[in-house]
Amino acid sequence: MAKLLGLRCRECGAEYELQATHVCEMCFGPLDVIFDYAALKKRVTRERIQQGPPSMWRYRDLLPIEDSVPVVSLGEGFTPLVKADRLGAELGLRNLYLKNDSMNPTNSFKDRVVSVAISWARAHGFETIACASTGNLANSVAAYAARAGLECFVFIPVDLEPAKVVSISVFDPNVVAVRGNYDEVNRLCSQVVESTPWAFCNINIRPFYAEGSKTLTFETVEQLGWKLPDEIIIPIASGCQFVRHRQAVYELMELGLVHSDRVPAFTGAQALGCSPVYNAFKSDTPERVLPVKPDTIARSIAIGNPSDGMYVNRIALATGGVVEAVTEEEIVAAIRLLARTEGIFTETAGGVTIGVLAKLARAGRWNGDEVVVAYVTGHGLKTADVLASVDGHARRVEIEPTLKSFREKVNI
Ligand SMILES: *Cc1c(COP(=O)(O)O)cnc(C)c1O
Ligand SMILES: [Zn+2]
Repeated sequence: MAKLLGLRCRECGAEYELQATHVCEMCFGPLDVIFDYAALKKRVTRERIQQGPPSMWRYRDLLPIEDSVPVVSLGEGFTPLVKADRLGAELGLRNLYLKNDSMNPTNSFKDRVVSVAISWARAHGFETIACASTGNLANSVAAYAARAGLECFVFIPVDLEPAKVVSISVFDPNVVAVRGNYDEVNRLCSQVVESTPWAFCNINIRPFYAEGSKTLTFETVEQLGWKLPDEIIIPIASGCQFVRHRQAVYELMELGLVHSDRVPAFTGAQALGCSPVYNAFKSDTPERVLPVKPDTIARSIAIGNPSDGMYVNRIALATGGVVEAVTEEEIVAAIRLLARTEGIFTETAGGVTIGVLAKLARAGRWNGDEVVVAYVTGHGLKTADVLASVDGHARRVEIEPTLKSFREKVNI
């Protein structure tokens, strides 16, 4: 069964053959993969999904990889959805869930999109895989390229955090450290893609890459017993995954996998140090997202010129969601709050998500019974340095190796 019909411009509807391209020639709008839902309806059932592998590939029917194509996998996805009772109690939420996507092979959400992108690229004859990255994407691309045996070029800002540079370099990719910020790296890569035969995950093969995001929402809904939550909190960098999560809910409804007439509220989270989408959301022109110069510890989501920003605000407004932003202090406080209450150590992007969740809860956004899910998209060891300034020793005592010292200083 051929389930893919081509690519379609999100703005003008122009259609294209399936190929490595991501913008419309007529209007420069973004291109999305078109699925044959009529054909998929006959095939996709809850049972079929549940019989699939314990990875995101249980949703293969809804990914842009035809059945005959071997996938490049490290076991990504099907991450835990945990009910967060202790964090919920602090925030007055009785049905709070965390989708812990830091449990992916390279410890971030990016493995979902990269697994799809590299599978597609390899099947379509590409020998080199590349990306422009704020860190997590390069980490994932380097790992999956190693797994696939493909040549790899990752473009990163020269001042990327040392922990991220190590976890990229260990996979032995070609690392191009660019003297500029992410937006400059991305602009350079948009030029490089024109003159190389390379598959850039988040540029020329972006329509296929983006689709991998949907699995995060598919799994969440399956793990909730095929029920849609009332609200989802999603961190925003380019806005790519936010838009695909809305599409995922559409597909679940369209294929009859969930029975509901109410779409969840889609809420976005940004750091105030890089909040172009939030700035537009609270202005009179939410679809006019103006670029900013990022300055935040939440570097994995610090994109000053987010390509899907206007669509994020359109979706947030249409579904009753909001876009909110938090300070640097709130990000660190949220990382610690999550760790202290739920035993989950997240990176700064997760601090942004939990910070926004906490801010909205404390402002009285919910009555307490709503099913709210927060997407925790990366692991804390990636940005452990931001906690160095925190007084982590407040509850620490140093003692002699004697019972006497223990009794004097601890067991008093
Ligand atoms: C890339 C990334 C996101 C979101 O990315 P989008 O560009 O908005 O799809 C969120 N969290 C983490 C940890 C990421 O690495
Ligand atoms: Zn168009």
